[in-house]
Amino acid sequence: MSATEMAKASIAAPTNRQSEDFLTSSVFDELGMQRDPNNLYLQVIDSVLRAAEYLEIPHHLQLILAQPKNEIMVHFPVRMNDGEYRLFKGYRVQHNNILGPYKGGVRFHPDVHLDDVKALSALMTMKCSLVRVPYGGAKGGCKVDPRAIDRDELMRVSRRFIAAISNVIGPDIDIPAPDVGTNAQTMAWFADTYMNISGSVSRQDALRVVTGKPLEMGGSLGREKATGQGVVDVLVELLPDMGIPIEGATVSLLGFGNVGSWMARLIADKGAKVVAVMDHTGAIRNDEGIDVVSLAEHVEETGGVAGFGASHGDTRTGRHTQAGADAVSEEEFYRTPVDVFVPAALEQMIDEEKAGWLECKVVAEAANAPTTPVGERLLQKRGIEVLPAILCNSGGVTVSYLEWVQNKQSVQWDLERVDSTLNKHMVLAARRTQLAQHRFECDMRTAAYIAALEQIAKVYALRGIFP
Ligand code: NAD
Repeated sequence: MSATEMAKASIAAPTNRQSEDFLTSSVFDELGMQRDPNNLYLQVIDSVLRAAEYLEIPHHLQLILAQPKNEIMVHFPVRMNDGEYRLFKGYRVQHNNILGPYKGGVRFHPDVHLDDVKALSALMTMKCSLVRVPYGGAKGGCKVDPRAIDRDELMRVSRRFIAAISNVIGPDIDIPAPDVGTNAQTMAWFADTYMNISGSVSRQDALRVVTGKPLEMGGSLGREKATGQGVVDVLVELLPDMGIPIEGATVSLLGFGNVGSWMARLIADKGAKVVAVMDHTGAIRNDEGIDVVSLAEHVEETGGVAGFGASHGDTRTGRHTQAGADAVSEEEFYRTPVDVFVPAALEQMIDEEKAGWLECKVVAEAANAPTTPVGERLLQKRGIEVLPAILCNSGGVTVSYLEWVQNKQSVQWDLERVDSTLNKHMVLAARRTQLAQHRFECDMRTAAYIAALEQIAKVYALRGIFP
């Protein structure tokens, strides 16, 4: 069987991951973890341990990887504009640093919980290893709604948060970046605060403490679109092997923020057709293809995709034009027949019900952990291939690494160099995953974890355990 035939066969009948074999590792008992299938952290560690079993990784390494190295929780007061003080809670979880300094974004969201941050930190360990950037995994979070406070308050929260964790981060120790609710401006405040309070490194070197900075402050060209670009690089590499030519491929997209909107524009440039989009404001559909550049402008102006059909539709007939789209229900959105469905919103949105609605051949996980275990099981039963998040969305951390390298050398690369280096990392990660899938005859998620874990296990074997 050729690689193409094998890939096609794997779409038709991917290996089933049964509920009975979910959270089965004895490591969960040894570490006293309760087997809760809805717990995001346990879901991620289950994938790690499943891959570890395929690779027959030593038991002590399984124990090490099942728990983060450090879980830091901080509380800090901030004076609000009304003169009152509010106490905020923040987290920094450092999962593993065998491959290099800890690396991972900081999320500002009112519903951030320790277990979510732990899960995202473990995903970072796997992502960095899969794309072969010399970093470990970490993640941070602060319980705050950035849209509910004003800019000055947000700046003070950002500065106090980074000050509170300043003794555990550093340009060669742990390097935060943006995530949901934070952006280049937040990184500018983080960097400036750290530069002012860390006495141990030069101010110039201290800039490397965060990535995703504004271009004028040492940011990299191509960082803003990097995650969406990485998803497209993976699809361009893998879809043809699955019998889906990228030119003319149809795509539906859940989430039209940073990752989703860039992914949409970049895949449209490759000749694919985005036919349905949903975000927190509503869902739209146009089987002729949505003009995603106009949609991005509409979202910039209005804050969401809702109303796009109306504003770009034919006002005489009330029907959509080529550039517009019809407003559809959530269920209609999910049931839109497409080649590729891309979740690019929040975690755990593709549950059993949504998995039953989807009419696609491939799910490309642009968001972190968007599929629940039961949702994934149903997708697999229905012959829908899932390309996992640790592969699809690792473009962001890859260009963060390139930013850090440029800062270290005090140079700025042109966009072409950033894009082509990112592409090499993404293509090799996709091939590593494909190879592991063929070697171990497993699903793509397990294959991606195997390809990531193999590297980590080799380094542990070489270094040994101190002392
Ligand atoms: P974002 O905040 O820019 O966009 C989030 C999108 O999700 C928005 O379009 C929002 O409308 C939509 N959304 C939120 N709630 C929704 C709901 N209930 N129903 C439908 N849509 C909803 O965030 P982002 O940076 O694009 O990140 C998206 C995902 O990708 C997250 O899981 C994030 O962790 C992951 N990710 C982001 C990056 C990055 O570089 N930004 C890197 C790796 C992974």
